Amino acid sequence: MKLRVSEIRLAGEIQRQDELKSDEVFSKHVDLATFHKPIKTVVRAQMTHSDIYVSGNVTSSVRYLCVRCLEQFEDPLNVTFSQTFDPQVEVIDLTDEIRDTVLVNLETKPLCKKNCQGLCPQCGQNRNLLHCDCEKKSGRLGSLLKKFLLY
Ligand SMILES: [Zn+2]
Ligand SMILES: [Zn+2]
Repeated sequence: MKLRVSEIRLAGEIQRQDELKSDEVFSKHVDLATFHKPIKTVVRAQMTHSDIYVSGNVTSSVRYLCVRCLEQFEDPLNVTFSQTFDPQVEVIDLTDEIRDTVLVNLETKPLCKKNCQGLCPQCGQNRNLLHCDCEKKSGRLGSLLKKFLLY
C-alpha cells in the first residue's frame, strides 16, 4: 500500500483501505503459516508539525499447521501498527510495515486447541480424533515387567 505525501499534506489527514494479496506481501515462505485470504488493511495518515503519523489495522485469516497433531486450522488475525515517516519523501510505501506487523504477530508454536492431544508417539494416531490403546498396553507391559523383575 502506497500513500502520496502531497495528498496527506493537502488534506491534513487521509484514510485508505486496501486488500493485499498475501504473496505480494510475503515473498518468502513462512513456516507453519499460510494465507489463503487477502490481507485487509485500513490506514490513517496524519500530518503533524514535524512528520507524518500513520496508524493502521491489518486483518486476515491465517492457516496454521498444529505443531502437536499436524492438522491445519484457521485462526483470525487482527493486528495494529503505527509509525512516523519523514514528510520530505513523495510516497510512503507501507508494504514492509504491514509485513513486519503480521510476521511478529504470527504464532510461533501454533496449536489447534489449547489441550491438543497430539499424535501417539507409538502408532501415530491423532489422539484428538481417536484414542488408541498404546499407552494402556505399555502400562500393562510395564507392570508385568516390574512383577517379573521383583520375583
Ligand atoms: Zn493439534
Ligand atoms: Zn497409539
